[in-house]
This record gives sequence, structure tokens and C-alpha cells, in this order.
Amino acid sequence: MSEHRTGAPGRVKEVTSLANPLVKDIKALALKKFRDQQNAFMAEGLKLVIDALDLGWTIKTLIFAKSALGNPAVEKVAARTVASGGDVLEVSEKVLTAITRRDNPQAVVGVFSQRFVPLKDIRPKGNDVWVALDRVRDPGNLGTVIRTVDAVGAKGVILVGETTDPFSLETVRATMGSIFAVPVAKTNPETFLAWRKDFAGTVAGTHLKGAVDYRSVDFGSRPVLLVMGNEQQGLPDNLADACDKLLRIPQAGRADSLNLAVATGVMLFEIRRGALKL
Ligand code: SAM
Repeated sequence: MSEHRTGAPGRVKEVTSLANPLVKDIKALALKKFRDQQNAFMAEGLKLVIDALDLGWTIKTLIFAKSALGNPAVEKVAARTVASGGDVLEVSEKVLTAITRRDNPQAVVGVFSQRFVPLKDIRPKGNDVWVALDRVRDPGNLGTVIRTVDAVGAKGVILVGETTDPFSLETVRATMGSIFAVPVAKTNPETFLAWRKDFAGTVAGTHLKGAVDYRSVDFGSRPVLLVMGNEQQGLPDNLADACDKLLRIPQAGRADSLNLAVATGVMLFEIRRGALKL
């Protein structure tokens, strides 16, 4: 490992060996155990890293490909990383491929501190919309929901029970950068049910056996908590019973249900119809 200066103020470490301990730590972020131990996660792409910094996320390490050296935008991000106390690594293509587990990796990768919003700090008001996901399993679904929450201007996502990790590489990729814009809380069903009691708005569950057509509901201008069920099992009774109403999206054809992220998208566009002037 050598150290040198780029156009960015501050030292940049040049790393070419996969055996380098810094690289080993970053590679380990592929596993939840090590993400939690390091309280860190990885996000790929220059634009995404710039957006994250603009939104106030803490960058621990910036990694960039040798080929990006001299790119003014990369050098600016490197300078911001150093200024905020982070490390900057200039790495070989081989190291980037190993870190991201991808052929043709992006030239810039950021390692950021994880961030969850405490459930008790969520106090919805006005026409705020929050989405609660019961035991979501699939990283692609979770990432897509986070991206859709961002797109419709909903407030955030509450993960209830054992869920897939919002900070896994697959989830972060599926959010397309929205992981940095959408607050995420995680909790257990008991704490969620206690918090729900003080929810001053409509708690709308979705259920294949829901009695109410989702298009017939006037969501008004009060907060809405949209509750979505697990991919395999749907909403369990304790969560379904805590909802003010259970909504159904009518279906034709032979499919027994919609994909979780698709159903969430359909619901969010309906709930936010007025706000989005659709
Ligand atoms: N086998 C599961 C069941 O019996 O509920 C299917 C779950 S579905 C893949 C995942 C979640 O998406 C459901 O729990 C519900 O929240 C929502 N969902 C999917 N299709 C829906 C529909 N047609 N109406 C209402 N909610 C739906």
C-alpha cells in the first residue's frame, strides 16, 4: 500500500492487494454480521455518493478506480471525504470487482454509516404517509418499496419483525439511491402495535381478503399508515386486527396475489393521488 496526493486535499491510499486489511473489511460488508459489527454499508456510483454526502450521510471510506483519477467530480468527493474524516482508497479494477462482487463495477463506491430512525421519533402529521412492512424477505422488494416511497413523496418505511436488511448490497442497489432519502425504522410487532395506538390517522392494511376496494377510500388529509403483509404469508391476524380497514386491490386472471412491491406501489399512488395531482 502506498500513499500519495491527488488533486484532492488529503492523503489517498493506493491499494492493489486483495489481502489488504482495509479491503478485507470492505469485502466483509457483503455479510450482515459484519455490516452490523462495523455499523456500515456500501453504495455504488459517483452520483449516489454525491447525493448521500449532500443529504448529510457520514462517509467512512471512499473507494475509486485508478481510471477515475483526475476526474474533477471524483477528486471533489475525495476531498469532501477527507474533510469529514473518512479514508480514501484508490484501487485496482481487481479490488473493485472483489469488493462489489460484480464484473464491470462502478468506478466509485462509498462505505457509509448505517442509520435507522427510532420509531418513537416518528410522529406523523398533516397528510404524511408511512409504509409498514411485515417481515419483508426479498431485498429487491424492500429496495423497490423504498424507491417508490421516495418517488411518491411518502415519509418513510417501518420494518416490522424479522426482515431482510435494508443495508444489504442488493437492497441498496434496488433503491437506486433512495436509501439515502427515505427514513427507515425497524421494530418488533409488539412495539409496533403499541406505537400504532397513538397513530393519529388512518391505518390501512392490505389483504387479499380485504372487505374494502382500495379505490373506494377517501384518505382525506390525515396521516396514513399503509400496512403491507409478508410475501409468503400475508398479514398475520395481530397486525390485520390493528388496522382501521383492510383494503383489497381487485384482480382478474389466475394470479392469486400481486407482488408485494407492486401492491405497495399501486396503494401509494392511490393514497398520494391528491398530493401528486393525478
Ligand atoms: N400468499 C400471501 C397471502 O395469502 O396474503 C400473498 C402475499 S402478497 C405476495 C404480499 C402482500 O402484498 C400482501 O400481504 C398484501 O399486503 C399485498 N397484496 C398483494 N396483492 C394484493 C391484493 N390483490 N390486494 C391487497 N393486497 C395485496
